[in-house]
Amino acid sequence: MTKVLVIAEHDGTQLSVATAKAVKGAEGVGAEKLDLVVFGNDPASVSEQAAKISGVDCVRVVSGEDFAEPLAARMAPEIAKMASDYSHLFVASTTFGRDLMPRVAGLLRLNQVSDVMAVLGPRSFKRPIYAGNAIVTVNVPETVATVLATVRTASFAAAQMTGSATIEALESQASDPGHTRFVGREGSSGEGPDLSSASRVVSGGRALGSADAFKVIYGLANTLGAAVGASRAAVDAGYVPNELQVGQTGKIIAPDLYIAVGISGAIQHLTGIKDAGTIVAINKDSEAPIFEVADLGLVADLFEVVPELEKLISA
Ligand SMILES: Cc1cc2nc3c(=O)[nH]c(=O)nc-3n(C[C@H](O)[C@H](O)[C@H](O)COP(=O)(O)OP(=O)(O)OC[C@H]3O[C@@H](n4cnc5c(N)ncnc54)[C@H](O)[C@@H]3O)c2cc1C
Repeated sequence: MTKVLVIAEHDGTQLSVATAKAVKGAEGVGAEKLDLVVFGNDPASVSEQAAKISGVDCVRVVSGEDFAEPLAARMAPEIAKMASDYSHLFVASTTFGRDLMPRVAGLLRLNQVSDVMAVLGPRSFKRPIYAGNAIVTVNVPETVATVLATVRTASFAAAQMTGSATIEALESQASDPGHTRFVGREGSSGEGPDLSSASRVVSGGRALGSADAFKVIYGLANTLGAAVGASRAAVDAGYVPNELQVGQTGKIIAPDLYIAVGISGAIQHLTGIKDAGTIVAINKDSEAPIFEVADLGLVADLFEVVPELEKLISA
């Protein structure tokens, strides 16, 4: 019997949209039963949100102080214990899922399929390799008891929120491994929409030249109600924090609108915006590779046109 367990991601009060996307991806295996597990200290409200995700049969809730923070080291042993009830375990390929699933795989001594972008069948998946330059089909052998996968959220629309799953409380089954404890949390430095899920993103590259000059990107983003992103060159130069990096080694995003400002369009950057809707590029070099993928291109000096654009939009 094909039984799927999806691991929910949340911040204690709000279920992440990535969970509904992971459910959508997981639905592709055609499971007879699809459950969701929520860990938390007091996750009642998150569990109710989770129960609304269409396609979910049962929300299984493991609560307790041990799960007050989403520590992969604490959750992985619980999930590994639950694995024998399921043929498939899925989680979104976010920072949370990328931290968690390899630990589950390690405990179960199984390999995982990472970054699933299409589900071809219960054991057949497509995933990107070589920074998205090639797509490979991966078949998981029948001898593997549990299929473990992380789901590329940019590749799936979120499942509808019209479901009414049952909610079931579960006892914690595994003891604390004791080697990892929560020390503290630092909030992300940015204001405005979350980069991973924003429908509009304005990104800046090396061309900005300094953290101070990067304010021009924040200005345009504010005017558009967009999140701010950056190329790796801009991050490495210290113009913006690491969490804003878009690309192969940063965030993979799929906004409706992506505006790349002073970004050349290296393949490692483009990997991060492959599923974006409309791509707009502003670059003073008409030969820049970003124009090959852009729907709209403006060959211009960013320091002249971005403030002008901001004024026009505000007006
Ligand atoms: C293993 C690996 C992983 C990587 N992962 C990532 C990743 O996740 N994300 C990522 O972004 N990169 C990544 N990179 C780096 C990537 O290869 C590029 O070096 C990087 O994306 C370049 O950033 P950039 O476009 O800002 O800079 P550049 O390539 O230097 O481009 C700057 C652009 O700005 C334009 N410009 C300059 N002045 C102006 C102006 N006044 N007005 C308008 N345009 C102007 C120039 O014409 C140029 O096209 C990775 C590289 C490796 C090897």
